[in-house]
Amino acid sequence: MSEKQKGGISVSAENIFPVIKKWLYSEKDIFLREIVSNATDAITKLKRLQSLGQAEATDTPYRIDVRLDKAAKTLTVEDNGIGMTEEELKRYICSIALSGAVDFIKKYEGESEDSAKGGIIGHFGLGFYSAFMVSETVEIHTRSYTGAPAVHWVCTADGDYELEASEREEIGTEIIMHIEENEQEYLDAGKLREMLNKYCAFMPTEIYFDDGSEKKDDQKEEPVNDVAPLWQKPVSECTDEEYKAFYSKVFSDYREPLFQIHINADYPLNFKGILYFPRITNQYESIEGQVKLYYNQVFVADNIKEVIPEYLLMLKGVLDCPELPLNVSRSYLQTNSYVAKVSAHIVKKVADKLVSLSKNERERYEKVWDDIKTFVEYAAMRDQKFRDRVKDHLLLKLTDGTHKTIDEYLEAAKEKHENTVYYTTDKALQAQYIALFEKKGIAVVEFDSLLDTQFATSEEAHRAGVKFLRVDADLTALKNEGEATESKALTDLFVKVSGNEKLTVKQEALGEGDVPAMLSVSEESRRMEDMMKMYRMANDDGGAFSFPLDTTLILNTNAPLIQKIDSMLEATPDKAEALAAHVYRLALLSHRKLSAEEMQAFLCDSYKLLLELAEQ
Ligand code: ADP
Repeated sequence: MSEKQKGGISVSAENIFPVIKKWLYSEKDIFLREIVSNATDAITKLKRLQSLGQAEATDTPYRIDVRLDKAAKTLTVEDNGIGMTEEELKRYICSIALSGAVDFIKKYEGESEDSAKGGIIGHFGLGFYSAFMVSETVEIHTRSYTGAPAVHWVCTADGDYELEASEREEIGTEIIMHIEENEQEYLDAGKLREMLNKYCAFMPTEIYFDDGSEKKDDQKEEPVNDVAPLWQKPVSECTDEEYKAFYSKVFSDYREPLFQIHINADYPLNFKGILYFPRITNQYESIEGQVKLYYNQVFVADNIKEVIPEYLLMLKGVLDCPELPLNVSRSYLQTNSYVAKVSAHIVKKVADKLVSLSKNERERYEKVWDDIKTFVEYAAMRDQKFRDRVKDHLLLKLTDGTHKTIDEYLEAAKEKHENTVYYTTDKALQAQYIALFEKKGIAVVEFDSLLDTQFATSEEAHRAGVKFLRVDADLTALKNEGEATESKALTDLFVKVSGNEKLTVKQEALGEGDVPAMLSVSEESRRMEDMMKMYRMANDDGGAFSFPLDTTLILNTNAPLIQKIDSMLEATPDKAEALAAHVYRLALLSHRKLSAEEMQAFLCDSYKLLLELAEQ
């Protein structure tokens, strides 16, 4: 080039720079991804030409250098890829096809979603220009592999550029970004390292970061990225150790994942990925997964729920979809049939994995069940197709710690309590009831979350005739042979001491050693009450709200204490009443939390009884 050329970036509408600044504001960080991924593209192109014999092969390893120079306030990205001739630079960099971009921007005006804004970039080949989000001036030194002379391009943020000969000797491109005064955070090594980690961790060419600090002589140069991420490896060659190491590195999670699903979908879906079931230490921990989406090893975004069904976002993992454009708008994803197929394929793979674990590694499946239960139940409730696939492999955890599928449970229950699943929501509080069921040889299922109960309701809807009953909802299965001798006076006495006229009292001949009295609330009315509680219509402390309508007190006519009270009724009615009141409160105590007044009355009576005992 003989003399300096001057020009202005040609656009077919208004100047692009104010647009870039305004619209891409919230996603500034991605400029680095755009510049570095252009560099990897340039290297890939050169490699291809070399393999085709169209470019001279060299021994120099391909690499990308990201250099920070705080003093000069510059950030530089250099590659030894294909480079550009003067003509290419003018064509690819100096003119921007903007006509469509303006329409696009207008369309999304007012939409606050970042992805829509980000969408502008990739759609219109403005990737390189994102550098202007943070730079006042951008320089390019580039030498094409073709042997054409190197060129130097300098462009200010208002779009004016200068083009001249460059002294660059090596084939490749160097982009120097002069960081703007109020964007100085991009001169912070920590921040840049974080961005490289997020966006470039798996890019296919080695990237070296020089933060400008002094190097020790023996310090080995390490790339910031892993050029061959595990998801690219054939499934048969990956070891369990590799899966675990990859997980802990990518998600900085010191806990081992439970298991993983490595997806390698061929044409036409053509995507790869690894999804992990994370370990959840306790139920109070929020289950927040993270599924990272990549485009040919370039990070796109986290948790794109159009690609991964929302309920799968509890998982952690990586997906690489080269069929999706690097920058995609939400509306594009929502209406794209490819995306829907990818999503369906992932759901199928996850379900297949669960089924295969259940069929082939039942012991392991049971072991991880408590950790994955929340996820599986939620997914089964949210997605009919998913449920259809896993329905025979949904486990119930029994109070003795063992697990059964719903069908196995029902099969075992056939003789004693057909189509009924008994469950407890509180092993300690409902211990009395559980003991009675277990004594009868009836297995009790342990529910430990609200989701379990909702899941039970949803399963009832799918399984005609099947009922889930809490252990204190219906005690008919506990009845012994033979009728109880009804005593009306006894019933009246207990209604009186309960202070609840609507209380139903039932006299049943249970075992002699069984508890004398128990309360039960029908499943329906309790579920209603639970629902009301959820909607905050009922009092929160559990004890103070008014009694649900169909509460039943079951008196065990075989219990000596009940027989005694019955026989005392005539001679010493006061004493019988005091005892009945106490028995009632004990039943209440093992049924639910007592209200403040109930607790006070209970303690007061207890001391009175103890005093009487002491005075005897
Ligand atoms: P896109 O990458 O989407 O095509 P960009 O604005 O990022 O859009 O880049 C425009 C063009 O400039 C690229 O297609 C490529 O031809 C050229 N280019 C950008 N960066 C480099 C580079 N580091 N080396 C060689 N060519 C490049």
